[in-house]
Amino acid sequence: MQPHYLLGGFLVLLLTVPQIASEFHVTLLNYIGLYSIVAIGLVLLTGIGGLTSFGQAAFVGLGGYTTAYLTTATNLPAWAAFLGGAPWMGLLAGIVITALVALLLGLLTLRLSGHYLPLGTIAWSISLYFLFGNLEFLGGHTGITGIPALTVFGLVMMDGRNFFYVIWAVVLIAVWLTVNLLDSREGRAIRALKGGVVMAEAMGVDTARSKVVIFLIAALFGCVSGWLYAHLQRFVNPTPFSINMSIEYLFMAVLGGAAHVWGALIGAGVITILKQWLQDWLPRLLGASGNFEMIVFGVLLIYVLQRARDGIWPILARLVPQPVVVRAVPQAEPLPRKLPPDKGLVLLDARKVVKRFGGLVANNNMNLTVKSGEIMALIGPNGAGKSTMFNCLSGVDQATEGEVLFAGRDVTRLDSREIARLGMSRTFQHVRLLGTMSVLENAAIGAHLRGSKGVLPAMLHLERGEEARLLAEAARQVERVGLKDAMFEPAGSLALGQQRTLEIARAMCADPCLLLLDEPAAGLRYLEKQALAELLRKLRGEGVGILLVEHDMDFVMGLADRVVVMEFGEKIAEGLPEEVQRNPAVIEAYLGGVE
Ligand code: ADP
Ligand code: MG
Repeated sequence: MQPHYLLGGFLVLLLTVPQIASEFHVTLLNYIGLYSIVAIGLVLLTGIGGLTSFGQAAFVGLGGYTTAYLTTATNLPAWAAFLGGAPWMGLLAGIVITALVALLLGLLTLRLSGHYLPLGTIAWSISLYFLFGNLEFLGGHTGITGIPALTVFGLVMMDGRNFFYVIWAVVLIAVWLTVNLLDSREGRAIRALKGGVVMAEAMGVDTARSKVVIFLIAALFGCVSGWLYAHLQRFVNPTPFSINMSIEYLFMAVLGGAAHVWGALIGAGVITILKQWLQDWLPRLLGASGNFEMIVFGVLLIYVLQRARDGIWPILARLVPQPVVVRAVPQAEPLPRKLPPDKGLVLLDARKVVKRFGGLVANNNMNLTVKSGEIMALIGPNGAGKSTMFNCLSGVDQATEGEVLFAGRDVTRLDSREIARLGMSRTFQHVRLLGTMSVLENAAIGAHLRGSKGVLPAMLHLERGEEARLLAEAARQVERVGLKDAMFEPAGSLALGQQRTLEIARAMCADPCLLLLDEPAAGLRYLEKQALAELLRKLRGEGVGILLVEHDMDFVMGLADRVVVMEFGEKIAEGLPEEVQRNPAVIEAYLGGVE
């Protein structure tokens, strides 16, 4: 949160600047505004979502050319005549076209991981650039002239000073929409894309969809910027929509603030002013003409990435005294809960599960059941295959052979997201938290499936009722596992034991009928273990089935109803805790493991 007086000061500055600044500076600020809109989209896509696009300038071009063509064409076919002549219709058409293109491109490339997206956007960027330059009806390399001025509320925007207000109003709206989106259920899903995909999917988040969403939003922001540009400039040609410009947009987003929305404005400002300045001075200094500024940008970017990976914004934010915000624990009426399953019902039934990694058989012929209202412990020496089994059961990985039945359905080939939907929730042995997000927000990701409001309501903050209930639920579970005092701390600042407990809170937020806990007590102190055991007993009492991997034998034996022992990927014993403890094979496995 930024102090309000800063925002107020910024607004006053925006209102007064066109009255006092020179023509040249107003123009410069107009361009900074236009670039900011694109950069905000890129902060969302690249900085926050971790997806790199080299194609943003092409989306800007799509917005610019659509309106340029439609507002100047004299021979539109009858069915499209209603789109002609009016800039606002140009915007509408631009948005529809951009959305369709971005959706298609996104669906084609986003599912592929790694470098396919950057490569896909480069290909798209280059082809569209040549298309703009070679299509005769778009004016070839000379472009389209005579684009009409924009009319807003009856005012004709002939002048850069008037246009300034339009541009910066759009910038502020884009910031507002993006900040709103990030502060929502959908926003948490988006923020999980960078480094948290496996976890988010296991909490029921459709991460492929979240990727398409941010790709679409970034493209649409580009389109709107292009539309404004066309009507500000009153002509378009292909040059400003080339891949060079796409790279500059990336510079702006990364330099300004990578993961900070306001940083986009800083990045756009710094790059634009610097470019202007370097274009003036470098040729003079070097005594030769050329685009030297790109070289300086490159060096600058490497320097910033070395010194401050998160860009300039966090450094600036640190200079401003942050007011101490007293945050209230979110409260709202509780979310509806599913009916607990009948006690003793078999929830999970794994049959002859085999999991191979190449030649290594990590799970061999594993049979296992968990009933509702029961704590089943899965124990065994390190490397026995317990975590692999968890992954096969929860859909994080898929069994090579065998089948897994859950809640009466065959889930062997389902994704973790679909299994989560059926009521299974899990924690990870190697904690998967989003370190910079608060404890509360991390827990709230677990409640993802208990909300339903989508991206648009989130951007417009029309989902505050549901959001309050999700956060209140997260707060309740955070409190339940004993992390109330750390609720607003970044999850990364917790001790490892507490991070594990937070994972349990997150899993409980899903209101699961089956909980899979992979070494939940590791790193906990004696009293914390006691509290955890108490909590698990309580959940068992509510009818939840719990499958638990744990090393602490005292903890397991005092808690579990039944125990399955694994060694070398196979089940070597199963039974009541006291039976298993006396089993010679188990004693051998454990003693054999001690060197
Ligand atoms: P546990 O949780 O019981 O300590 P794991 O299930 O983590 O054991 O590992 C069982 C065996 O499978 C180990 O030998 C481990 O090295 C191997 N293994 C686990 N995951 C993979 C993987 N993704 N690729 C290859 N081998 C793996
Ligand atoms: Mg393990």
